[in-house]
Amino acid sequence: MSELTITLPDGSTRNLPEGATGADLAADIGPGLAKAALVVTVDGDARDLDRVLPDGSTVAIVTSSSDEGLHTIRHSTAHVLAQAVLDLWPGATYAIGPPIRDGFYYDFELPGGATFSNEDLEAIEARMRLVIDADQAFERYEAEAAEALELFSEHRYKREIIEQVTSGAASGELAGEASTDGSVTYYRNGEGFIDLCLGPHVPSTGRLGYFALQKVAGAYWRGDEKQPMLQRIYGTAWADKKALKGHLHRLVEAEKRDHRRLAAELDLVSWPESLGPGLAVWHPKGALVRKMIEDYSRDRHEAGGYDFVYSPHIAKAVLWETSGHLDFYADGMFPPMELDGATYYPKPMNCPFHVAIFQSGQRSYRDLPSRLFELGTVYRYELSGVIHGLMRSRGFTQDDSHIFCTPEQVPDELASLLEFTLSVLRAFGFEDFQAKLSTRPEGKAVGEDALWEMATDGLRSALESAGLDYVVDEGGGAFYGPKIDVDVTDAIGRPWQLSTIQLDFNLPERFGLEYVGADGGRHRPVMIHRALMGSVERFFGVLLEHYAGAFPLWLAPEQVRVLPVAEEHQDYAESVVGRLSAQGFRAKLVPAEEPLGKRVRAGKVAKVPHVLVVGDDDQANGTVGDNARGAEAPERDLPLDEFVGRLAVAVESKS
Ligand SMILES: [Zn+2]
Ligand SMILES: [Zn+2]
Repeated sequence: MSELTITLPDGSTRNLPEGATGADLAADIGPGLAKAALVVTVDGDARDLDRVLPDGSTVAIVTSSSDEGLHTIRHSTAHVLAQAVLDLWPGATYAIGPPIRDGFYYDFELPGGATFSNEDLEAIEARMRLVIDADQAFERYEAEAAEALELFSEHRYKREIIEQVTSGAASGELAGEASTDGSVTYYRNGEGFIDLCLGPHVPSTGRLGYFALQKVAGAYWRGDEKQPMLQRIYGTAWADKKALKGHLHRLVEAEKRDHRRLAAELDLVSWPESLGPGLAVWHPKGALVRKMIEDYSRDRHEAGGYDFVYSPHIAKAVLWETSGHLDFYADGMFPPMELDGATYYPKPMNCPFHVAIFQSGQRSYRDLPSRLFELGTVYRYELSGVIHGLMRSRGFTQDDSHIFCTPEQVPDELASLLEFTLSVLRAFGFEDFQAKLSTRPEGKAVGEDALWEMATDGLRSALESAGLDYVVDEGGGAFYGPKIDVDVTDAIGRPWQLSTIQLDFNLPERFGLEYVGADGGRHRPVMIHRALMGSVERFFGVLLEHYAGAFPLWLAPEQVRVLPVAEEHQDYAESVVGRLSAQGFRAKLVPAEEPLGKRVRAGKVAKVPHVLVVGDDDQANGTVGDNARGAEAPERDLPLDEFVGRLAVAVESKS
């Protein structure tokens, strides 16, 4: 009997009898893998486990521990959703149902234009569980177009997909739905359920089950508003119970922490309709926190050897032509204004202004590195559908720095830049970082090979000496230079991309930047773009969600609230506030016009770090009662001196 030779991802080979499947290979490797296997990849393409392996191929077993495995679970669960809906609503029809991040959706049309309710989702979920308990195998079939059209004769959207894919006209989301070589693949499970699909799927429905249906939304067929409105059901699916529970918990937490909601509750920021989408106004308390973030940033930059600069919000078209923005970034820019016979654009980036500062005089190698820093407000055209509070807006302020240095200075500069970045992020309470190094893309790139190599090595060694976890996005860099992106992980485990350190070999070229070297000759400097928080607004939004509105003491807009128990304690309460204010703390008094319990609760709702209560004994002894945020019980009879001392330590250490 002839044999197959299969190469595994680690380079080792295995011999199996002809006709062996992915499942056989997994079993040959070991019983644990046989149980965990969901699909295989054959020379990089995902396949069902029960398909015969071609001789000489490289095969990887995919389990639920990989993204690909989770993707398969989500995709397969979407089939079961469609199966349940078609079972429960005779005459219903189905369109497409792809996996998405953390889950899946499926689009349906119910007879008579009916819509799903939340109770329906429960019934559908129960029906799905029956399908899963029945452990139905997913069976793959291929059919010619005519046969497939017959099979799906009752389902107009499926027929449309078949016509599109078999005529080769399918594009976008439809392209992945069936096949492109003239025939169509479909899958059958249970007695009568079939769906068009390229696969692959988990071997059987019994491998699914850790899912939840989440919501219903309207969605136009093919995203086209001239087409019928379908009913989309969203769900989430995971490999096990713990992962599902963790995800559902994160969703609840994320909802509670939504910065738009907290911004309104805590009176920090608002987005009046009269301003236009993606444009915010900062209320006094929000502005106070923002000012402290900016002040801290300025202090650190000053200590870090940066020079502060300012630039206008608009500039003539010629600047954006020279910089290239009008070529490659025009879609992201606000439209032009005509003024005195010239065309002006609001700035989408600060870089060309800093270049203009560098260019304003002759530079010598002794002037380098030149580190320019600006809190520069930029305007970018974002589609209204993607605008999201402070996280994605049309006007925001970058903590933007451009460093001009000699090629020889690049490695040291990168190492200190990354250290500086991490140290500032840590001060705001972030501990967990993930970095990505993006390297030279294939094809067209500007800059000499040696420069790319030196800069990429510099970034890599900066990451390594900082001890950061990082992934390499090979070829993922821009055509003008490699970069590092730094993500922080927030309190509920979500990553946020904040900092970028981007080398640029292009702008110095376009603007013809030069410095006089030690040899007396003219040389081209290297430019590094560095945004640390990204934008101050977004950073504020991330902090707000990270802390769920309970800013650490040094950033809290109101650090202490002082509550006299009764009217006769008002004078003492005022003296406590006076003492705190004199020492630079932000303290406020709320007089005894309302019951004490109500005032204490209001202080907690406002997330004030310390709510002090002062009564007879306190007045007599110079003490306070401290209701510290998060503490189980109030601390009574605390000498005011001691309280002030503790506050000073906590602010100083940013804890
Ligand atoms: Zn499928
Ligand atoms: Zn820049």
